[in-house]
Order: sequence, then C-alpha cells, then structure tokens
Amino acid sequence: MPAEVLVLNRNFYAIEVASWERAMALLYLGRASVVDDEYNIHDFETWIQLSQAIEEHPSGFVHTPTLKVAIPEVIALKFFDKVPKQEIPFTRRNIYEHYGHHCCYCGKNFPPSELNLDHVVPRSRGGTTDWSNIVTACIPCNLRKGNRMPSEARMRLKIPISKPKYRAGVTLMWRAPFKVRRSWQRFVDRAYWDSQLEE
Ligand SMILES: [Zn+2]
Repeated sequence: MPAEVLVLNRNFYAIEVASWERAMALLYLGRASVVDDEYNIHDFETWIQLSQAIEEHPSGFVHTPTLKVAIPEVIALKFFDKVPKQEIPFTRRNIYEHYGHHCCYCGKNFPPSELNLDHVVPRSRGGTTDWSNIVTACIPCNLRKGNRMPSEARMRLKIPISKPKYRAGVTLMWRAPFKVRRSWQRFVDRAYWDSQLEE
C-alpha cells in the first residue's frame, strides 16, 4: 500500500497529504523535518541514522544499496507557516458530513443510503444549489416536503442551514478521501475523525 505522509506547516498545522516520494524529496532537500510520535523533529541526516535502528515501521522503508530510510508518517515544513484557505467542496459526501448524517427536518441520524439532498427553497422558486439552500433530508421528510417551501409543507428545519467553516485539518481531509492514520490524529480535528480512523 503506497504510504501517504501528512504534511504540517512550521506551526504544526496540517496542510497537505503528500505521497511518500514527495515527502522524501522535501526531507532530502532540507525543506521539511520528520515529526515523530513524541513531537521530536529530525532532519534527514538524523532520520537516516534512526532508521537503521528501527526494525519495523508503519509505512515501511525505502532501500538504497547501502541504507534503509523509514518512510515518515508526519513531516513538518521548515519555512512555510501559512494555512492555505480552501473552501470545503460542495459535494454530497461533504454535505452529509457537515450535517453529521442527520436529517435537517426531523433531526434524526441516518446512514447515507437513507439520506437525500433537499433544496429548502425549491428550484422551481429560484432556490440555488449551494451551501445556502441545500440540506440533508431523510427520505420520508424529503417526500413529505416535496416541491414546496418548508412552511407550505408545515415543516421546519430542526437543524438550521449552515455553511461549513474552514478548519485546517478537517478541510484538508475533506478535500480527498484519505485514510486518516493514527499518527495523524492529533493534527486533525478529533471530533470529526474519531469514527473514521484506520484499523
Ligand atoms: Zn427526516
């Protein structure tokens, strides 16, 4: 399984998930350091030395003719301290995640297969398809509401409509379906990822 590496900025904010090849290149070029389980930082030289003493490593090793180098799980950039601002993509999956797999009308929790997306203001009345007008609805609520305004259907939103706020770790993870590794946990939003951890 090709290892992915969590990339932190200089202030330990998760900003990217990189291929192990790219992570190794950043280390080799001196632009990043390895962050170990105890938050210690190692540059490429010391990491190579440490690698020789490690028997097993979660991400495995890269072998050169004379050396083995453990593939790090987390690296931190040395010179970059910004957090890239990125919108959370407007996708079905992200909308479900945003509302915690709840139907916004009845407030109950459902598996994805029992949820739909609902235009609060129907499209036929000029309702838009974006974070400002789309909520999750269970199939019964969705059917009951139909092509009407909530008030016409005598329904109201138990969970108010909202747009997800940008949060560094979460946004990063929401942008691609990465498997969150245990070693990445403390750098991304715990509340959201507790249910998504790898075995
Ligand atoms: Zn419902």
